[in-house]
Amino acid sequence: MECVLGGFYSVDLSPLESKLRDGGFSLLILQLPDGLKRFFPDLVNCISRLGHENIIIHGDSVYGACDLQLGKLSLLGDLDRLLVVHVAHTPYPPELASVRVASENVVYLGARSLVAIDEALLEDTARTLKDLGARRVALVATAQHLHELGAIAGFLAARGFKAVVPRGRPPYLLDGQVIGCDYRVARSAGTVDSYVIVSGGFFHPLGLYLATLRHVVHLDPYESKVKLVDEEGERVLRRRLYLVSKAMEGSTVGIIIGLKEGQYRPRLLQSLIESARRKGLQAVLIAAEYTSPETLDNIDNNLIDFYVITSCPRLAIDDLGDYRKPVLTPGEAFMALEGSLHPYRFPW
Ligand code: SF4
Repeated sequence: MECVLGGFYSVDLSPLESKLRDGGFSLLILQLPDGLKRFFPDLVNCISRLGHENIIIHGDSVYGACDLQLGKLSLLGDLDRLLVVHVAHTPYPPELASVRVASENVVYLGARSLVAIDEALLEDTARTLKDLGARRVALVATAQHLHELGAIAGFLAARGFKAVVPRGRPPYLLDGQVIGCDYRVARSAGTVDSYVIVSGGFFHPLGLYLATLRHVVHLDPYESKVKLVDEEGERVLRRRLYLVSKAMEGSTVGIIIGLKEGQYRPRLLQSLIESARRKGLQAVLIAAEYTSPETLDNIDNNLIDFYVITSCPRLAIDDLGDYRKPVLTPGEAFMALEGSLHPYRFPW
């Protein structure tokens, strides 16, 4: 059964239907990304038609499949009888976290964007690629737009490009899928002249640029725009390299440990601690569920010279890029600890 949210997204309920057929769940908790939360009445109506009325909407921000917050939600009922319905993300890649985040109590529902990509946008994309002199192109997208990639590849192939959709790692990453902290599917395309990414907003295009350092053409169906990411990507890259070089002068590193289930990464943590020790640096360990400028303001003092965030690597760039001390992603921290600015390493 398909459920349309506000005319903008189509959610396939079949994984939920089969989970409910197995039975045993007395309470459903709906987790939607902030941008989709307001469509909850449509989803509740659809689920009611499946015979389930006992539903609670999770009002907190849920930033990704790394952030299911099962510990807190278990306050609402017996965990064995509670089902989290997590919309718009695929399960978090288990090798990136310590806890296997996909659990029996979670069902993941994809949300396909219904916003059309018209031919003018595709022509614009082809023109931008031609101006770059690109021939071999890899097409990637966020989960909501993956269904468009086949048609875009066909369009570009008809205009002489060799367009590929890189193979995914289902169920965690589908064909062509990127998430904010994982671009392995994109990189698996091998050497390409350019990427085309279909997504709303600049978050994923920037991550793709930093992870690949290739041309990135951003097709935004919501803004109905095609934009080359390179100039802004280079500006951010230069800033990141400056912060890595500043961190190289430090003698004490504050290592932030994530307290969300999908953001606790003990192997990565151990590896950073050992690298710091080999380099003769002191490591201060700080555990936090969410790291904001205020979190660091409260804790910061003369002892700590720079920070590394092991929870969500995007916080270092998107939220703390202008913090008064360098705040690095794990990949950047390894660069600083190894004393090398090349190659740029993102995100891990
Ligand atoms: S980018 Fe951050 S919030 Fe998004 S999936 Fe990765 S760790 Fe989670």
